[in-house]
Amino acid sequence: MASAPTAYVVSQGEELLTGLTLDTNAWFLCRSLTEMGLVVRGVITAGDRLEEIEGALLRATTGADVVVCTGGLGPTTDDLTSEAAARAFGRPLVHDDEAMAQVQARYDAVGRAMAPSNRKQASMPTGAALLVNRQGTAPGFSIDVGQGRLYCLPGVPSEMKSMFAEIVSPDVRAFVAIDPPLRHTFRVMGQGESQLQGLLGDVPERFPGVTLGFRAQMPENHVKLVAEPATPGWDDAVALVRERLGRDCFTEDPTEELAAVIGRLLLARGHTLATAESCTGGWVAHLIVSVPGSSAWFERGWVTYSNRSKREEVGVPAAVLEEHGAVSQETARAMADGARAAAGADWGVSVTGVAGPDGGSPDKPVGTVWVAIAGPTGTRDRQLQLGARDRTMNRRFSTWLALEMLRRQLLRTPVPEAPQPGPETVP
Ligand code: AMP
Ligand code: MG
Repeated sequence: MASAPTAYVVSQGEELLTGLTLDTNAWFLCRSLTEMGLVVRGVITAGDRLEEIEGALLRATTGADVVVCTGGLGPTTDDLTSEAAARAFGRPLVHDDEAMAQVQARYDAVGRAMAPSNRKQASMPTGAALLVNRQGTAPGFSIDVGQGRLYCLPGVPSEMKSMFAEIVSPDVRAFVAIDPPLRHTFRVMGQGESQLQGLLGDVPERFPGVTLGFRAQMPENHVKLVAEPATPGWDDAVALVRERLGRDCFTEDPTEELAAVIGRLLLARGHTLATAESCTGGWVAHLIVSVPGSSAWFERGWVTYSNRSKREEVGVPAAVLEEHGAVSQETARAMADGARAAAGADWGVSVTGVAGPDGGSPDKPVGTVWVAIAGPTGTRDRQLQLGARDRTMNRRFSTWLALEMLRRQLLRTPVPEAPQPGPETVP
């Protein structure tokens, strides 16, 4: 098999070197190019000096089949990528009427007058192909250098991403022969990396050519299988990992979130959900509402932070709060039951805990969290001891673990059988 095509990423901008801006473009491009089946050989970050950019472009284009450079295409004097490319490859800058028209059209669209400095954005190295930017003023360009191709895109992440998806990605696929690797992702809750290593560590030995990778996205863990195209035993390796993970894997779609899986499970049962959150402050509801179409299954949610709100909004009895405290099994159960009843939903989820850094006590240290799930067959609760992680981590773990507990409960709840078609209904 021919070896996979290679890529280099060049990030341009002084702000990346001073730490004012995090280089999310390189992160996006490395991931996208890898997913397309290219091997990324390196990333170079260049500041705003002409020689630095020139050097970065020369080095990148001699090291790879495809180079994607971002930044430095704006109208100001520190935007020097076009000039650097012109010098690096001996192709003097020329004014491009089409590029000029594109910049002008962009200003017309937003009803603003074009500044004289924008003329500079229509200068491109001789022989460059214009890459249209439909979201901003800075046009991009591509040039062929030796056997490779260089794409220069604007630095603004949203513009860069849409140009990559619309123009660069299809062009790269046509330009280099890619045989994308086999890959499969399992998103897992409830197993740490070391447990997963113990559970799955023998897979690469059993299936030569299949590599196993883990990515912790706490508290999720993502298990990845990767192999060269047409590796023998691939399907068996995927099936084995699936079997070993069982219900701990909540999805095999790398882009499907836990809350979306819960939405699927609720929809299949025709059920709805309500939430009452204390320490997570609406994070559970936020994840739910981030799922498109969640209005079909999410009824409502409360952030019941004070004791008063726990009483008034979801009917936690004053005596329960007094006797057991806000962070307790009894309060969590009353919150879940109360949310379910007040919303008239099939399910109620509650979270109450000590997020920290203050507020802990010997019997309820920081990281003590109670989660309760009220459902059609009763109410279940669980105490979490999240340890001394910081406030955000405690809240994040509580949020995910509440959703995960709901998912487990839903899996135990049967899906109603579809009505059998009667003799008169022809399918
Ligand atoms: P430029 O195209 O160089 O004028 O960049 C425009 C803006 O995009 C900069 O001010 C940054 O905020 C942003 N930007 C540029 N490069 C990057 C990068 N590699 N990662 C994230 N943001 C970037
Ligand atoms: Mg810049």
